[in-house]
This record gives sequence, C-alpha cells and structure tokens, in this order.
Amino acid sequence: RQPTDSPLYPLLAAATDFYRQSLKSHPARKAAIDYLKGRGLSGVIARDFALGFAPPGWDNLMKHLGGDALQQKAMIDAGLLIENADSGKRYDRFRDRIMFPIRDSRGRVIAFGGRVLGDDKPKYLNSPETPVFHKGQELYGLYEARQANRDLDEVIVVEGYMDVIALAQQGLRNAVATLGTATSEEHLKRLFRLTPSVLFCFDGDAAGRKAAWRALEATLPSLQDGLRARFLFLPEGEDPDSLVRAEGHEAFLARIQQQAQPLADYLFQQLAEEADPRSLEGKAHLATLAAPLIDKVPGSNLRALMRRHLKELTGLEGETAPAPSATENDSQ
Ligand code: ATP
Ligand code: MN
Ligand code: MN
Ligand code: MN
Repeated sequence: RQPTDSPLYPLLAAATDFYRQSLKSHPARKAAIDYLKGRGLSGVIARDFALGFAPPGWDNLMKHLGGDALQQKAMIDAGLLIENADSGKRYDRFRDRIMFPIRDSRGRVIAFGGRVLGDDKPKYLNSPETPVFHKGQELYGLYEARQANRDLDEVIVVEGYMDVIALAQQGLRNAVATLGTATSEEHLKRLFRLTPSVLFCFDGDAAGRKAAWRALEATLPSLQDGLRARFLFLPEGEDPDSLVRAEGHEAFLARIQQQAQPLADYLFQQLAEEADPRSLEGKAHLATLAAPLIDKVPGSNLRALMRRHLKELTGLEGETAPAPSATENDSQ
C-alpha cells in the first residue's frame, strides 16, 4: 500500500526533527510549551509522540531544508510546502502550530497534523494526500500503541490527536484515531490483525454518534467469532481527552467496564429507535433494516445469534439474503 522507499521519507524525518528542535529551542517556543502544559501533557508524552512546533513565519522550514529547486519540489510533494498556483510563490504549509507527526506501522513519519495554539481556524491542518500518505488507511497512534504494548488486548478508537495523546498521558497507551475521516473497513481489517477487541469511543455530540454508526457498518465485515467490537458513548459535550482529564484513568476504565456496549446491542438498540418493534409494521421494518446488516457478519455463530435475536424481536426469520460468501478474513 505504500512505497517501500521514497525520497519523501528522509525529508519528512528531517521536518520532524526541525519541528521537535523548534519546540526545544525556538525563541517563540514558550507559547507552544505553555499550550501543551495547559493541556496536561508531559515531556515524556511529547517525546513518545514526537510532538513539535512549527514556528510562526512563512519560510522557517523552507529555509532550513529547502536548499535548491529540486529539494523544494520534493517538499511540495511531501505536503510540507505550498506553491501558489498564480504567483508561483512557495511557503511553509504549517505555521505557528503544534505538530503531530503521523507514523506508519514501521515508525516512519508519513504526514503531519498541526493544531493552532488558540482558537483560530482551521483548528487542525493535515498534510494532503501524498505518495506516502493515504488518509483513509492510516490510524494515528497505532505505531506508538504497538511500541508501548507487547500485546494489544484492546484498541480504543477515538476521533482526534489530542484524544489519543491525553489517554496515553493517563496511562492508556492503546488508543488510535482516524484522521478526520470516517472509520473504514480497511481500518478495521488492520486493527483486527493486531487485536481481538476494538472499543469505539467518539465525541459526545451528534457527529460522534454518527461516526459510531458508520464505525459499526465498517466493522461488520470483519467480525469473525472470537473478535468483538464495543461502543462507549460519552456524556454530551465530552470527548475522551476532556473526560479522562476530568475524571482520571481509574474512572475512565470503570466507565468502559460498566457502559461499553457490545456491537450487537448497539445495532439492535439503534434500529429499534428507527423501527418500533411493538407494532407489526415496526417489526417488518426492523427486519428489513437488520437483515442486510446481520448478513455482513462473517462469524457464523455471531450471525446465527443475531438472527435468533431478530426473530425474538419480530417473529421473522430474517433470512431474506443468503449467508455471506467467504471474505478475506475467512482464509486467514
Ligand atoms: P481539541 O484539540 O480542540 O481538543 P479535538 O481533538 O477534540 O480538538 P475535534 O474538533 O473533536 O478535535 O476533531 C476531531 C479530529 O478531527 C481532530 O483531531 C482532527 O484530526 C480532525 N479535525 C478537526 N477539525 C479539523 C479541521 N478543521 N480540519 C481537518 N481536520 C480536523
Ligand atoms: Mn467533535
Ligand atoms: Mn473532540
Ligand atoms: Mn478535544
């Protein structure tokens, strides 16, 4: 999925070094350090996630790395420089931002996210798609999670960079984030190669709840018997970062233990809100909605149990479609 070798890798590594060095010694670093401290982050976590600082100004990185035209062209390809289409002027993409390097499974930096220090817009700026960065496939924090854990008993999937890092700061070093994109089937296939259990924990807002349902849909085709997915819904207005900082590690774990909802529970509960199983019309509608979702599950035991549950709810067999054909996962 990624080139094994590319001149962009050393360039992105050099940019990472520059941003990290700027966080340590640039004259303007104080605001960045204060910002990170204000969000409760330690130097250890900043190091483990290779956090950095893109100083204010239009050409800091360009001056530091971009010697000749060829080098600058590569920096544009890497998403580090922007070239104005009309004037041809080149300038640093990331300016006056906290920098979050995004690493691939081998630990190579392939892209960055950058956050403003205050409330300016856009709050986050990500690298564009490049030859080494394909947004829909990457999971922020996966490399770091694997570094920190010999075995990943569970992976927590969250929305944002700061959620991953705040959880790590509290000792929960098994969180990853989709990068402002929806959770994809590809994401789940990757995760279930590394862990038997995935916990989705999105923001407590309308966007987070929508993301949870999309994550459910993306998970179904990976659900072999022996794997599980759960959903933890947060109080309105909270995200994993705000919540784990407010209530701490222990309370957050207790919340997971008490409130995480198994995928099949969430599926039936959500569908019952759309189609009320107390009426015959609702039962009919519910079966129509549930059957195609259940049919996506490759685990034959789970599929059978979900069908039985649908039958208990509606009296219908729900066998409107044949069992799914073998998927990639079956032959693993
Ligand atoms: P904060 O740093 O304020 O706590 P957050 O991590 O809670 O931010 P959200 O606003 O909940 O961020 O967004 C979740 C994720 O979505 C971000 O981490 C980022 O990856 C992505 N995102 C948010 N805003 C933007 C944006 N304007 N452009 C691109 N990606 C964004
Ligand atoms: Mn949100
Ligand atoms: Mn958030
Ligand atoms: Mn947040």
